Amino acid sequence: MNLQTPIRQAGNIFTRYAGRLEKLGIKTLEDLLYYFPFRYDNYSIISKIEQVQSGEVVTIQGTVIDIKNEYTKRWKRIQKAKIEDDTGAIDVTWFNQPFILSIIKKGDNVSLSGRIGSYLGKSLLESPEYELLGLENSSQTIHTGRLVPIYSETKGVSSKWLRRQIYKILKENRQNILEYIPSSIKENNDLMGIYESIEQIHFPKSKNLAEKARHRLAFDELFLLQLAARKRRSEWKKNLESHSFSILDYTKDIEELWKKLPFELTHAQQRTIREIFKDLSSSKSPMNRLLEGDVGSGKTVVASIAMYLAFLNKFQSVLMAPTEILANQHYQTILNLLKPAGVKIGLATGNKKQNTQDFDILIGTHAVLSKKINFKRLGLVVIDEQQRFGVEQRAIIREKGENPHFLTMTATPIPRTIALTLYGDLDLSILDEMPHGRKIIKTWLVPPQKRQAAYNWIKNQILKTKTQTFIICPFIEESESLQTVKAATKEYERLKREVFPNLKLTLLHGKLKSKEKENALENFKSGKTDILVSTPVVEVGIDISNATIMMIEASERFGLAQLHQLRGRVGRGDKQSYCLLFTDSQSGKTIERLKAMESRQTGTELAELDLKLRGPGQIYGTLQHGVPQLRIASFSDFTLIEKTKIEAEKIFPNLKSHPSLLEKVENLVTKQVSPD
Ligand code: ADP
Ligand code: MG
Repeated sequence: MNLQTPIRQAGNIFTRYAGRLEKLGIKTLEDLLYYFPFRYDNYSIISKIEQVQSGEVVTIQGTVIDIKNEYTKRWKRIQKAKIEDDTGAIDVTWFNQPFILSIIKKGDNVSLSGRIGSYLGKSLLESPEYELLGLENSSQTIHTGRLVPIYSETKGVSSKWLRRQIYKILKENRQNILEYIPSSIKENNDLMGIYESIEQIHFPKSKNLAEKARHRLAFDELFLLQLAARKRRSEWKKNLESHSFSILDYTKDIEELWKKLPFELTHAQQRTIREIFKDLSSSKSPMNRLLEGDVGSGKTVVASIAMYLAFLNKFQSVLMAPTEILANQHYQTILNLLKPAGVKIGLATGNKKQNTQDFDILIGTHAVLSKKINFKRLGLVVIDEQQRFGVEQRAIIREKGENPHFLTMTATPIPRTIALTLYGDLDLSILDEMPHGRKIIKTWLVPPQKRQAAYNWIKNQILKTKTQTFIICPFIEESESLQTVKAATKEYERLKREVFPNLKLTLLHGKLKSKEKENALENFKSGKTDILVSTPVVEVGIDISNATIMMIEASERFGLAQLHQLRGRVGRGDKQSYCLLFTDSQSGKTIERLKAMESRQTGTELAELDLKLRGPGQIYGTLQHGVPQLRIASFSDFTLIEKTKIEAEKIFPNLKSHPSLLEKVENLVTKQVSPD
């Protein structure tokens, strides 16, 4: 057994837990070691029994002189014990944990940590953490009497269980946890050794050491990410042979298309197109560019023009979207734009195949990766909302052409520094300007007592201005579970019956059949439906210009950047648009956070604010795909990002002389870049 041993094969204890651990992203023993606590309970004050004070959180250590189970009047079970040390005795109680009696026996030496309460004037230790002392020849405690690590738990996997296993793995693998950071870098940056860091992050001797351990591990995380990005970049550049597209031969055609657009391209769009064209016409290495732009900033048209250039150069392009809804929408948009210019456009989703044999541009979901689809001269791959596609899928699509160019697009407002850290292998274009004439989306946080008034207002707006409304149901779980769907269905029924009986409502959720989804959207698009009630699936990309009201339930469950993305579903046409945020939260902090939506209109601004208010794990968590979860480092730690960048620059590409570091980097390179 070593640290790479999969959990499933790591012995009985683990096999049973494997499924649950995988939910936490833990697949190997090493993953367990890298599953860090998010805080510590401070039980480090070990007190003599005679000195304890009511209200204190302490650890006492002594001998069990009595332990028994009792029933309360209501038939609840209560466990009572008496513990003695050389200064006195104290009563201890637990509730409903009868199994404790099979662990702790009269005469045992125990260590107990918890809060001192009082009962009838006597001190009492209430529901303490406990462990037996003197086991396994060690006086070391892990659940009591120290800074005790607390982990995020999942059903059936408690902090206590994690602590015990991690402690064991650590002890048994001292010789397997080897330093991989070159000593000069360690010295320059005052880094703790790797074994000690992992030990101290889980079982710190002091707050200070926990902090040093955290620093070292955060350093590693960012340092390795940067090296991996550099490595990917250099591997990409090795693909020297690239199809260089001619621009000069087709200036006229491009200009003509440009003129036919129903709007004028923004400066940012023009600049981005120039950047892309430069890559596409270079013969050095294929383009590998990330196009970042707020919702509604107009990324699709930029991609379309790039694909048109590929077409003019007699190359095929493919555009991959993360959902069927989006793929269909892109298909329509691009059909309108490019069909008149003679471009043949195909569509491939799980449920629909159209012109998948003879096309210039193929649009679709993952279905475009199918073996049945043959490409001839695939020259350009466009990936919308890149984060949903992993490296493997990129590799598959890449194989279908010969070093095709890649353009990946995202609406995730990743600050430039972070983008450069994570995607240092990509060149970056940013659409930092919204199309002209966009109105500010008036946004209000609606207090619970104004709910009915808000409904009335929505009704009037719909009737008066003939516009349409989105209602987003609460976001319940990360993936669209049955529970989410049920909740949405119930809310939809309620709205239909009680709130908007005279309007036409449609329900959209991820568990609908694709035909049903399409119908729902089609009806909404064509104006047959007044209100689209939806789970947060509409977050990504859909474009309906007559929709002017976005109403979001339980808005506190979203990050600001996510709310901003949802809000971006309206305000696409020239009519005044509105966003109504509902929350039942009473927390002043939450309200303040949500209020920021009223005054701020750009994704980057909101993302940065969220970064400050909630920390990076939160913003970039769950619905907000696009940035891999950091285990321990923080994207707001610009100092550390800068430091690790400098070290990465210094050492790269000279990794051969540091084989264990190289191995770490290579592992990271082949791993999927992001979750999902
Ligand atoms: P996103 O960047 O979120 O993918 P889209 O490409 O879907 O945005 O564009 C949003 C809407 O804005 C579309 O209806 C599109 O036609 C329109 N649009 C794009 N560029 C411009 C522009 N320069 N001026 C006006 N409208 C534009
Ligand atoms: Mg889009």
